[in-house]
Amino acid sequence: MGITPQREGITIDFYCQFKVHLKDSSISTILAGFAALLPQLLMDFFQKVLIGFGEYAMVLKKKPFTCKCGNNIDFIWKTRHGKKTKVHGFYCWIELQQLQVQCKHCGSKMYITRKLLGMEPRKRIAPAIYRKLGLLGALTSFRVAEKIGGMFGWAVDKMTIWSAVQKTASEIDFKLDAKELAHGEADGTGIGIKGIAKRGKELKVFIQYIKGGGVRIAGLDIGNYNGSWDKLFQNSIEVFKRFSYFLLLTDGDTTILDGVKDKVKIIFQRCLWHLPHQAKYVLWQDAVKRKSADWLYVISELMEICAIRPFVDCRQTIEMMVESKRKRLDEIIKYCKEQGYSSTVSYLENARPDMFTALEKRLNGKTTSRVERVMRTVNMRTSVSKWSKAGALNVTKVRLAYYYNGFDA
Ligand SMILES: [Zn+2]
Repeated sequence: MGITPQREGITIDFYCQFKVHLKDSSISTILAGFAALLPQLLMDFFQKVLIGFGEYAMVLKKKPFTCKCGNNIDFIWKTRHGKKTKVHGFYCWIELQQLQVQCKHCGSKMYITRKLLGMEPRKRIAPAIYRKLGLLGALTSFRVAEKIGGMFGWAVDKMTIWSAVQKTASEIDFKLDAKELAHGEADGTGIGIKGIAKRGKELKVFIQYIKGGGVRIAGLDIGNYNGSWDKLFQNSIEVFKRFSYFLLLTDGDTTILDGVKDKVKIIFQRCLWHLPHQAKYVLWQDAVKRKSADWLYVISELMEICAIRPFVDCRQTIEMMVESKRKRLDEIIKYCKEQGYSSTVSYLENARPDMFTALEKRLNGKTTSRVERVMRTVNMRTSVSKWSKAGALNVTKVRLAYYYNGFDA
């Protein structure tokens, strides 16, 4: 092994010698032999590169590390093959013999292995690696990730991938982008969470439309069905203030935005695409039997009320449409009151004022949900197994950040 210091980086001649017994020359046997070789090769390679850079550093006048006494010039080698330490080498865990130097000023000894690797003291997985594993674990199930890894000679266990997902997610934060469009949707969908029925929790997503088409994620939360939506908008409050108006399509509870409502013009629009689906839930709460006469009456009426033809640009026509729709809606509310369907009544009365806002303002009257597309992206992953609340939120965070917000590893 020779080291040639250059202006930038070093060049290393890496020779290796392995002894491996193969019982035949089939492709499978050769690959299995190579897979057995890989961890050893990786470990030796890491060690040699580190020593190479350690020696390169030691001939520099000013060292790339500093003693706690402030000295960054005078050091001597203590050892190039010191106490072993375990770090993640992406393909597998590897054990490295630590490089240690001694300060010539105060005599303290210092390990420089992690400094050379660009890792925090005592940490075992570098950010570049847990982000890769985190993305992998978010794009497919932990079991599949482990299986695929194994096929390529990896030895990365499910647990490592799981914790990499949690760590990667903790670095991701969603909020509105002031440079993108003042238009978005917020919606929720039920998801299966360990020990809780599908109706128990829902995943709430806040998306923002972006210039040139498409959407980005501006908020994400898992909470009680019909529960608080505060966390979804919390991060974005300050950004809302920077828009002169914001068109928000939502079925959700937006009380947290009340404060911003006065400062900027936020236009709330019930997501008409979603409303009949939500109605199924409140009817269920009112114990109305699915597909019964009452159920069919309410749902079919709502479907018709919520169906809005796009590109109607005549003001009077729109006014007549809205009036007719309001009248039909009031009929349903009256009927549900008579039947004692209190949940359905309060749901519809709540939605009523915001249902046709966008249509009336003749802003974009688009009522099909783009958030639905996002939800399908989520469901591909969350339906593969049962989740804890935090686990489901984290895996979804990484996954959506990758698909919509340009996160990559
Ligand atoms: Zn010192």
